[in-house]
Formats: sequence, C-alpha cells, structure tokens
Amino acid sequence: MSPFELLTPATLREAAALLDPDTPDIRPMGGGTALMLMMKAGVLRPRALVSLRATEPHLRDIVLRPNGELAIGALVTMSQLEHSDAVRRAAPAIGRCMTRLSNVRVRNVATVGGNLAHADPHMDLPPLLSALDAYVVAVGPSGERRIQVDALIKGYYETRLAGNELIASLVVPPQAGRHSAYVKVTTRSADDWPALGVAASLSMERNAVRNCRLFVGAATDRPTRLLAAEAVLAGQIPDAALLRRAGEAAAEGVEFLGDAQGSGAYKKELLKVYLGRVITTALADGSAA
Ligand SMILES: Cc1cc2nc3c(=O)[nH]c(=O)nc-3n(C[C@H](O)[C@H](O)[C@H](O)COP(=O)(O)OP(=O)(O)OC[C@H]3O[C@@H](n4cnc5c(N)ncnc54)[C@H](O)[C@@H]3O)c2cc1C
Repeated sequence: MSPFELLTPATLREAAALLDPDTPDIRPMGGGTALMLMMKAGVLRPRALVSLRATEPHLRDIVLRPNGELAIGALVTMSQLEHSDAVRRAAPAIGRCMTRLSNVRVRNVATVGGNLAHADPHMDLPPLLSALDAYVVAVGPSGERRIQVDALIKGYYETRLAGNELIASLVVPPQAGRHSAYVKVTTRSADDWPALGVAASLSMERNAVRNCRLFVGAATDRPTRLLAAEAVLAGQIPDAALLRRAGEAAAEGVEFLGDAQGSGAYKKELLKVYLGRVITTALADGSAA
C-alpha cells in the first residue's frame, strides 16, 4: 500500500473543506472496509485520507422522529442498524437485511455513509433503501442538499456526490401502512455478495396492491427500478399467477450483467422467481408499521 497522510477533522464541514473537487487524491474514510481493500489492491493510491471518525458524535445516532421518520447519521455502523430498536420499529426490513450483509467484523466497522458512497452495484442496502424511498443529506461547501437514494448511484463506483461533498445522514420517510422486504440470493455462503438482491415496498387496499416500489440490485450497474412489474401489480390482488406475470415483466425490462456470482442469463431467471418471493415475504412479515 502506498504511503498516505491521515487527516482527522473535528466536524463534517471541516472534512468536506479538506477535499478537493478536482482530484480523488484526497479521500474521505468512514469505516475504511472498502477503501483499505482498494488501496491494498493498488486500485486507489490516495495522497491523504480524511478520517470522519473524530467528527460530531450525533453522526453516530439513529433517531426515530415523532412523525415516524428515521434519521440515521453517516457514521452509524451496519451492526447498529442490525440491533437498533428504532430501526426495528420504523423499518424492520433494514435490520433483517443486515443479518446477511457480510460478517460481523465488517458490520461492526462499515458505516452507512461509506456504504452508500461506495456505489458497488452489488451492495445490499441501496436497493432496499430505494424501495423505501429514502434520501441522503449531503454536505458540501455550498451547504446541504437532499439526494434520493435511487438517484444517488450513477453506475459502477460512481455517485452524484461532488468530489467535496460528504453524506451526513440518511433519512427513511415514515413507513406506516407499508409492507417491505429485501431478499438476498447467494450462490455460496448466505452472507456472501449477492447474485441477486430484490427489494419491495407495498401498500395494500382491500387485498389489492395500491402502490408499490420494486428494485433489483447485483444484476445491473446500479439499483434498478422495476417499473414494468409495478404496472402489472397495480390495483391487482397478488395471487401466484399475477406474481409470475410480474416476475416475467420485471425480467424483460432489465439489462442483466454477469459477474463472479452468476451469468446475466442466470440472474434473469432468478429475478423471475424472486420477484414473487420478495412480495410474498413483504406481505407475510414486512409488517405494515
Ligand atoms: C469481506 C467483505 C464482504 C462484504 N460483503 C458485502 C455484502 O455481502 N453486501 C454488501 O452490501 N456489502 C458488502 N461489503 C461491503 C461493505 O458493505 C462496504 O465495504 C462498507 O459498507 C463500506 O463502508 P465503510 O464505512 O467501511 O466505507 P469506506 O471504506 O470508509 O468508504 C467507502 C467509499 O465511500 C467514501 N466515503 C466514506 N464515507 C463517506 C461519507 N460519509 N460521504 C461520502 N463519501 C464517503 C470513501 O471515500 C470510499 O470511496 C463487504 C465488504 C467486505 C470487506
């Protein structure tokens, strides 16, 4: 690993001010779990790392607001999400997703901000947070702005964050009346990188789907919304035949990319089956909070 300077600012704004929008030579660091692997592999050779660890303590907080909104600081770890009472009450699918995200050593260190900024299309959280209609608050020299999670990731390791913007928090809007789930399909161990990840968030009216948001991950270059499947489900009672039709529609609307976990053709077949399973899971135990 090439030598680097370690900077430890006391606030997120100071951290953002240390970044240079024109060069990735100075990188922010949350847990460092992705960054260190890329530096050891020689993919990244930053001149300096801006550690966020000494920044404001509230960036490690999870707050359930009176209106049901969940506000999660950028330095909250995956393990905190897994064990948080507030997360369990407001958006239980997030806590469940954590139990199979890598191993406990990674979850104890990896942060929400680093997870979302990393933009590896195989990550488990982005499709789920997209289905939940969550957004991040980004901080930069010109102040704060909101970016919806489903618009944050542009492609492989690319986000819409400017080079001197940092994720300060993640906000999950109130989920009352919605059923949500994420299903991770792995071809090796249960906590391996997914061959496919599918997320669903639905509201129901008299047993019919009133509104739904469906996203697939680990099969495309970014979390991808399954609009064709949403259209098949809208206003319908989700029986086995309808879920099969929705799965077919989902698979037709996506350009699949193969990887070490499976070919594009394999992922297409997986999506046909798992689209129905994620909806069944959401309706069975993704309780309408
Ligand atoms: C062995 C292993 C297995 C894994 N398996 C899975 C898996 O099955 N599923 C899955 O979803 N993930 C998996 N991961 C990925 C893991 O989720 C990420 O490494 C982790 O979430 C990144 O968080 P971090 O805080 O360590 O980020 P860092 O490594 O600190 O940073 C990652 C990127 O984000 C930038 N960054 C960090 N914080 C911020 C911020 N606040 N604002 C803006 N930019 C920022 C950094 O500059 C860097 O580009 C695995 C990782 C490892 C090491």
